[in-house]
Amino acid sequence: MLPNSLGVPCKADRLTVARSEEELLSALRRHGSDLVLLGGCSNVILPRRLRRPVCLVATRGVDVRRDGDRFLVTASAGENWHGLVRWTLGQGLFGLENLALIPGSVGAAPIQNIGAYGVELAERVESVRVFDRVRGEVGRLPPERCQFGYRTSMFKSEPERYAVLDLTLRLDRRGRRVLDYPDVDRELRRLGWRNPNPRQVAEAVIRVRRRKLPDPRTWGNVGSFFKNPVVRASEAERLASSVPGLVRHAFGSGVKLAAAQLIDLCGWKGYHAGTVGVWHRQPLVLVNRGAATADDFLALARTLRESVLQRFRVPLELEPTVVSDSGAV
Ligand SMILES: Cc1cc2nc3c(=O)[nH]c(=O)nc-3n(C[C@H](O)[C@H](O)[C@H](O)COP(=O)(O)OP(=O)(O)OC[C@H]3O[C@@H](n4cnc5c(N)ncnc54)[C@H](O)[C@@H]3O)c2cc1C
Repeated sequence: MLPNSLGVPCKADRLTVARSEEELLSALRRHGSDLVLLGGCSNVILPRRLRRPVCLVATRGVDVRRDGDRFLVTASAGENWHGLVRWTLGQGLFGLENLALIPGSVGAAPIQNIGAYGVELAERVESVRVFDRVRGEVGRLPPERCQFGYRTSMFKSEPERYAVLDLTLRLDRRGRRVLDYPDVDRELRRLGWRNPNPRQVAEAVIRVRRRKLPDPRTWGNVGSFFKNPVVRASEAERLASSVPGLVRHAFGSGVKLAAAQLIDLCGWKGYHAGTVGVWHRQPLVLVNRGAATADDFLALARTLRESVLQRFRVPLELEPTVVSDSGAV
């Protein structure tokens, strides 16, 4: 059985664990695009059975070198993301504090360009070292080649092509604090930290996350089940005229809405049906109430999506990757 944060049963017929880069490259060369790569399994919806070969990336290693007044931190794909955040803070290297406590591995972080509390990974990336399964070679990509966007990247759009080997981040000692997120700001005030250092920002983020999000060990989940939808400005205006207090943020040439608010307005917050439910403190999070399968989650997700579509004419897109024997979605 493949442990995963959603807590759904998944039997992988052919499972290997790559503890070194040689092992990982050898599995990639052997199985090519057929190989399913997984890290912490905290952003995937897994089927009951996977016949494709699966490789858990467990490579380790963190290295830091100076580059002028910046520090370049390189971490292997199998390192734990939050462990890396804690390590950088311990070294007095700042820039990742808002991304504290995001579950999963370093290698998966660039896949959906993880983001939280006003910061996206892309803002800190110096380069991503990958194995390109089409060309059969290792290469290092600067961020402008990765097509990072909101919860997406070139790696997510071409899931069978790139394997992330390691990630290099650009950090510094000054700490450009990003404090404009209301929940974090409120928590810092509550703690009485008026001019917080990056470690205190991380502490506030951790406290907010622990309060708002269910612990996957108790309530299986993948964090946000849907992305926040981005709509045209005219569409946002149309909605705002009929939805008082509609949350909207300018985003590129469009407007980003809050999927949680739309789901909440449809009355789904706290809803549960048998094995699955909608988290009562954050309706973007769907939880396993015991013995749920991928199909149960996908059925509930479809219901929420249809409900939001019917009421607001806004389509919601899944955030986690649906893994199957025919490929990743
Ligand atoms: C409670 C909770 C809170 C969360 N909060 C956030 C949040 O605030 N922000 C956010 O962005 N995400 C959040 N997530 C989602 C998740 O933590 C991130 O997406 C994380 O990066 C997934 O890491 P993982 O190692 O578990 O990836 P996995 O679930 O194992 O894999 C995810 C995808 O990445 C691919 N992949 C994994 N490793 C590699 C590799 N080395 N090379 C190529 N492809 C690879 C997989 O094939 C799959 O498509 C949350 C999840 C949970 C459970």
